[in-house]
Amino acid sequence: MSVDLSALFAGQRRALAKAITLIESTRESDRAQAMSVLNACLPRSGQSLRLGISGVPGVGKSTFIEAFGQFLIQQGHRVCVLAVDPSSPKYGGSILGDKTRMEKLSRDAHAFIRPSPAGITLGGVAHRTRESMLLAEAAGYDVILVETVGVGQSEHDVASMTDCFLVLMQPGAGDELQGIKKGILELADFIVVNKADGELARTAEQTRLHYQNALGVLNHTGFWTPVVRLVSSTTGLGIEAFWEQLQQYQAQGAATLKERRRQQALQWFHQLIDEGIQRSLHAQPKWASALEDARTQILNAQQTPPDAAASLLADYFKLS
Ligand code: GDP
Repeated sequence: MSVDLSALFAGQRRALAKAITLIESTRESDRAQAMSVLNACLPRSGQSLRLGISGVPGVGKSTFIEAFGQFLIQQGHRVCVLAVDPSSPKYGGSILGDKTRMEKLSRDAHAFIRPSPAGITLGGVAHRTRESMLLAEAAGYDVILVETVGVGQSEHDVASMTDCFLVLMQPGAGDELQGIKKGILELADFIVVNKADGELARTAEQTRLHYQNALGVLNHTGFWTPVVRLVSSTTGLGIEAFWEQLQQYQAQGAATLKERRRQQALQWFHQLIDEGIQRSLHAQPKWASALEDARTQILNAQQTPPDAAASLLADYFKLS
């Protein structure tokens, strides 16, 4: 598989699509080339605003991204949409990033939409999404939207790779009914109550107040006090005002966000080291069986987890 770097840097969507296919490849033989493409992209990356967007299915994520993405393009931006999709059997396979969900945006030459890669674990998807983000930035996309479903671990992954985290909400229902855990609200820099139109407009305003009060009791630190906003993704109400406030967030947090990205890169590195060691252990029969023995001992309360881990790692690093 060959990637035309000059076409990629010129922003050609086909070249970007091909580069992402390369980094998503699970073939060992593709990995070296994927690394070299990523290395070539690194100096050209980092210039975008990275926005995480979460919300339960049906809240209007794709409708919002369709409206917001088109608005951004009108403002002269180039928009990339990536999905981190916990496509477990429980949710019936992939539920995000489907191109048909954002029909107009996907046809726009200034937008690039990439569904979540199929058949790899959530952790694996998160790594690929981080890599795809670097490629998209090198291709000149200056707003990256990373979409996920508000149902579990994936929003922590997304928050750890973005500058700003937005949770979309339905008008009306309380937290429990929305299936949103409080932990997710703690990640949110923006809570956006969608569908503030027609019959739902009044309820949406009540919901906005409800969350505004709820945020007051959460303990936030840093340069930004999270805000709750109303939008209608179908009428466009509130989209422009949201963007203005997002730019304010970016300007106000410039120094913090720069440092946060440095820390995110380190965290990513450490995660890869941890996973690499685990993978290596599992791949070698000798160590796989040592792991199994240790697990049995722990389950039978014959060994403590710290002791088992310390002795296994000591042997591993001595002998490998
Ligand atoms: P997703 O599963 O979070 O991506 O949700 P969708 O974008 O597919 O939207 C779910 C449903 O809500 C669709 O029927 C949309 O037409 C509707 N919807 C989305 N945004 C709005 C909005 O701003 N106002 C109204 N009235 N309906 C909306």
